[in-house]
Amino acid sequence: MSVGVESTLRGPNAYDLARKVLEDMERRHIWPTALNYELWTHYVANPDGALAQEIERLLSIGEAITEGVSEQLAAAYLPKARLNEQIRDAGDQLTRELTAVAAAIKQAQRSSEQYGATLTSAGKSLDEDVGPEDIRRLVDTLTTATKRVQRENRSLAKRLDESTAEVSRLREHLEQVRRDATTDALTNLANRKAFDDELARACAEAVEKREPLALAVIDIDHFKRFNDTWGHQTGDQVIRYVSSVIGRMAPPPRFAARYGGEEFAMIFPSERAAEVVRTLEEIREEVSSRALKRRSTNEDLGTITVSAGVAELKHGEKVDVLIERADQALYASKRNGRNQVTTDSGVAAAA
Ligand code: GH3
Ligand code: MG
Ligand code: MG
Repeated sequence: MSVGVESTLRGPNAYDLARKVLEDMERRHIWPTALNYELWTHYVANPDGALAQEIERLLSIGEAITEGVSEQLAAAYLPKARLNEQIRDAGDQLTRELTAVAAAIKQAQRSSEQYGATLTSAGKSLDEDVGPEDIRRLVDTLTTATKRVQRENRSLAKRLDESTAEVSRLREHLEQVRRDATTDALTNLANRKAFDDELARACAEAVEKREPLALAVIDIDHFKRFNDTWGHQTGDQVIRYVSSVIGRMAPPPRFAARYGGEEFAMIFPSERAAEVVRTLEEIREEVSSRALKRRSTNEDLGTITVSAGVAELKHGEKVDVLIERADQALYASKRNGRNQVTTDSGVAAAA
């Protein structure tokens, strides 16, 4: 997808495309943020692509393209291309580095062969009848050859040191790329993709070790209203605050992620739903008791609350079903007045 769009952006129709993108965004009241512009460029340039289809779907059900929605679209459709590019760059550099080192080693090998040949021929000359003048010439030749080999060995050693440093730099860079790809930029919690992977892994481990596992989903209450009153930037600040509370309550092996816009998920390996409720109550109480202030103006923002749902992995259950049950428990919290924690067993009992 991105290859075609990328080349269009540098081709004769680039400005036509850019104009179309902006016109379409303005017509649909999409804010011209850098991210939205990137998404819309793909949407307009590649109307049959997966991203375009998803945007069409969202527009057709009247979904507003909020910052959260844009981030989710980008996470699902854009970074793969970016990520692949970065991994490819690092791979190319690694290949160049290894090629250079291989050449240096070849060169060192050639000079040491030459050195061997010099020694052999010196040995042969000594077999013959030689005078002191010949011996002096021979020693000169050997000294020169030895010095050359020493020089080349030193330069090979230096080249190998440089190469080791370069390879570890590349490794750090790839590690950073991997971190970026699994981390949510706003909150620094794990992102949806990392959460999906970790939940699948943790569930498999729980089954294997015959241990319990609890899953919680947490959603900020009436957040749309909060955003409408105070603006998105302040909303983002609140998302960051809630995520910091959640993150503090999730030391390993627990795992916390930003699941969607104002929604979070926590994995509790080896813990039962009934125990996990206590942690969630702590989170809920801490969030609801904090008087929030707007950072830019110091205005009082009042308080916000969160609702949570908890479910425990059942024997032989698919991960999707576990998520669904935690979601149902969350909806029960919302239905019953928000600012509360519901376990899935509580939902079943009430039904
Ligand atoms: P409920 O109590 O039922 O959860 O109500 P709600 O308003 O929180 O839920 P709803 O799903 O209707 O709206 C969620 C809102 O969250 C919509 C969107 O404006 C906001 N939102 C989603 N992602 C972000 C984000 O990244 N930043 C900000 N500031 N707001 C976001
Ligand atoms: Mg909400
Ligand atoms: Mg929500």
